[in-house]
Amino acid sequence: MMKDPLLQGSAAVLPGASLQKACKFMVLFCALHLSITLVYYMFGGDKIYFTEPQQLQFRQKANSTSGPLVSVLAIAERYATQEPTSTAPAVVELADCPATSPLLVGSLRIEFSISVDLEQVRRTNPNIMEGGRYKPKNCKALQKVALIIPFRKRDEHLKYWLHYLHPILQRQQLDYGVFVINQDGDATFNRAKLLNIGYMEALKEYDYNCFVFSDVDLIPMDDRNIYKCYSQPRHLSVSMDKFGFGLPYNQYFGGVSALSKEQFKKINGFPNNYWGWGGEDDDIYNRIASRGMSISRPDAITGKCRMIRHERDAKNDPNPQRFDLISHTRQTMNSDGINSLKYNVVKTEKFPLYTKITVDVGPPPS
Ligand code: BGC
Repeated sequence: MMKDPLLQGSAAVLPGASLQKACKFMVLFCALHLSITLVYYMFGGDKIYFTEPQQLQFRQKANSTSGPLVSVLAIAERYATQEPTSTAPAVVELADCPATSPLLVGSLRIEFSISVDLEQVRRTNPNIMEGGRYKPKNCKALQKVALIIPFRKRDEHLKYWLHYLHPILQRQQLDYGVFVINQDGDATFNRAKLLNIGYMEALKEYDYNCFVFSDVDLIPMDDRNIYKCYSQPRHLSVSMDKFGFGLPYNQYFGGVSALSKEQFKKINGFPNNYWGWGGEDDDIYNRIASRGMSISRPDAITGKCRMIRHERDAKNDPNPQRFDLISHTRQTMNSDGINSLKYNVVKTEKFPLYTKITVDVGPPPS
């Protein structure tokens, strides 16, 4: 009868007792290997499932265990199945964002013939938090910027602003929030007072250190025009299509501007007594100059921006008193500004892409 050659061979090399020994050795070896792999895997450094205190606890337990390997395995298993405890995980300090964001793309195509759906803007900007808040995930933003928009009945314009600005501001790696300051009622508009209110209200929410004041109808055409603060007050809308892509005059400070908290405080904020269109931006310029500061600006290419064409708003006619007011800025600025601001908040609404604060600015002088 033919015998199985394999059986024949192994029977010849390994008698019964030796086979049993070899098997035991193999089982022990596997258990040892498994335990070492498990311990190495858990303390390897690239594992974030365990909090630091848990790892320490586990190490202590493992060190004090003098029993057989299987108890090490049991401890490891118990810890591996445990949810992270309520002990806060080690806080990871983010590195500062680079001085120049690597995400910038340069010049942008801006048009107002497209229709904007805010729901879609929200979907395409999933990292924006309620109230129009954003901060970069992978680095610490260099500035905390509150964007303040003076507003009344310009919902269509606001849609374009949100559609274009949110992606730009995120690429600029800013820690920012969008505040739309809506003047309640139908009395004469007061842009500068709304900006002062925006400053005050934004600071109640977060420790902003930079304030960008933007008209709702102005969109930058280049994302290298950074919506942040500089060592001097910044004028950002320096090259508007409305003015043939240049400044209408050298002291022009209208449209979009940025002041740090310190710069804003240094000039006692903005005037509260410019009712109707015009002059308040010239007053702000005078305040800055009278405090020995200068205006910082991007170059005319980077500073290009588009304005949405529109009819003049109701109750925002040119203010006939503006020339007289501008000529007295130095005398009035210490008593008229953030230190004399009075208003009432009517309503605060947190929308997905912005915070809308409706305010009663009081009546214009009769
Ligand atoms: C007004 C400013 C305005 C500028 C440009 C000036 O006469 O006083 O408020 O921004 O014109 O339109």
